[in-house]
Amino acid sequence: MSSQPQACLWLDQSPAEPRWPPLAQSARCDVAVIGGGYTGLWTAYYLKRMAPELEVALLEAESCGWGASGRNGGWLIGGLAGQEAHLRGLDGERREQARRRLFGIVDEVAAVLAREGIECDFAHGGVLYAAARYPEQEAAGRRWLRELRRAGHGEADFRWLEREEAQSQLGARDVRGGVFSPHCAVIQPARLAQGLARAAARLGVRIHERSPVRRLAPGVAGLDGCELRADVIVPALEGAANQFPLLGRCLLPVQSLLLATEPLPAALWEEIGLARRQAFGDLSRMVTYGQRSADGRLVFGARGGYRLGGRAQWDFDPDGAEFAWRERLLRQLFPALGAAAVQYRWGGTLGVARAFTPYAMYDRRAGIAMAGGYGGEGVGAANLMGRTLAEWILERDGDLTSMPWVVPEGRLERVRRWAPEPVPWLGYHLLRGGYALEERLCAGNAAPAWARRGAGRLAAALESLLA
Ligand SMILES: Cc1cc2nc3c(=O)[nH]c(=O)nc-3n(C[C@H](O)[C@H](O)[C@H](O)COP(=O)(O)OP(=O)(O)OC[C@H]3O[C@@H](n4cnc5c(N)ncnc54)[C@H](O)[C@@H]3O)c2cc1C
Repeated sequence: MSSQPQACLWLDQSPAEPRWPPLAQSARCDVAVIGGGYTGLWTAYYLKRMAPELEVALLEAESCGWGASGRNGGWLIGGLAGQEAHLRGLDGERREQARRRLFGIVDEVAAVLAREGIECDFAHGGVLYAAARYPEQEAAGRRWLRELRRAGHGEADFRWLEREEAQSQLGARDVRGGVFSPHCAVIQPARLAQGLARAAARLGVRIHERSPVRRLAPGVAGLDGCELRADVIVPALEGAANQFPLLGRCLLPVQSLLLATEPLPAALWEEIGLARRQAFGDLSRMVTYGQRSADGRLVFGARGGYRLGGRAQWDFDPDGAEFAWRERLLRQLFPALGAAAVQYRWGGTLGVARAFTPYAMYDRRAGIAMAGGYGGEGVGAANLMGRTLAEWILERDGDLTSMPWVVPEGRLERVRRWAPEPVPWLGYHLLRGGYALEERLCAGNAAPAWARRGAGRLAAALESLLA
């Protein structure tokens, strides 16, 4: 570890230093992947595994894992954001098939880690969404569980934990119960991205780091002084996709920020729990997420803001209000932390798709294949989408390309776009305002019940308006 810690715990433990040379002269290949995060790396990995003769090149502006993939909260979810909406519309057999694909993500990733010898602190302990800081969270959790049942998920997939059982898993303040699912693991994100890059390179993917693409058009990625031509281009840029007019407004780039404490002593972990390194969050709309890292830190984050024009953000003021608010939340949840110090503060940008539902798309005529819009749940989803794109590009038989998250007819123009500015900026800020109001009234515990209920309804209405 460097003596001058980086803001990001994961990148400090595993610096994202370039290992592969930039693209220095024009070239061509069968498939060109743009972006060395999970989406690009999984797609390249599966393409080469399924078709070793295929020439696959990957261009990364910085180094593999430099973006959201090296900085996230490390929840590896066997699922997709917004999956209930997809599953509700399917009949019995197809729904079962889709559920198996979603829940199978964690085992598939575990199998690749073992096969490729990737060490990334993987622990399959499940996830607990706890009703913790105020009573409305319990009602929200039970409501969500009813939705999950309507989507076909049973007790084995998501179940309500009563107070005592939830508290035995998570020693946070006021845990009243929670929704537990076994379909989640935690990982060290940067190590996963870097390990995947090495695995893809061993299979023969030509990786070029420090190779920013400046222009993107069907069949060609233009760099400074050279270009890469390919039959198929896979832009895998998530929060940075808006820089290219071809992809403009497909994704809403939204920030998320995290903290990590110093390593905590064993006695404190006795109180906090998370003995199986379960992922955890509370059931508020602030999208809180946390994990117990392999070296015994509490890592904790929550969804952040949106910048006018949909600009990505990677640097954040460590002394800013955003981090102070998260630290307050963390200490409210875990008073036992006492004087334990927060050592790392960092954040990054993720992509949200219209209707909050991620997608995969291959437009054969344009030679463009892409996936994304994971809405902050991309670690596992990118594996599923990488397999989907590989199967689709190679025209292999399989059920992945007929899943409900696949864009019909594989047409770029069928990918739903967000409205032009300033609509998203205004919409997102209204939504955040609604969330903040709900949080203030409910977490403060002083407001009358009708005001708390009203704030919840307002936040829900704003959500459907923005979608
Ligand atoms: C703070 C934070 C916490 C999160 N927590 C979780 C979590 O706990 N669980 C979960 O499932 N998801 C989480 N997510 C979301 C998840 O990290 C992302 O969905 C996922 O990493 C997206 O991977 P990607 O490959 O699509 O994008 P990225 O990882 O962002 O990769 C895109 C790559 O493209 C490169 N690039 C950009 N422009 C160019 C260019 N012009 N030319 C070449 N390359 C370029 C970037 O350098 C970057 O490496 C979180 C995200 C953030 C930001």
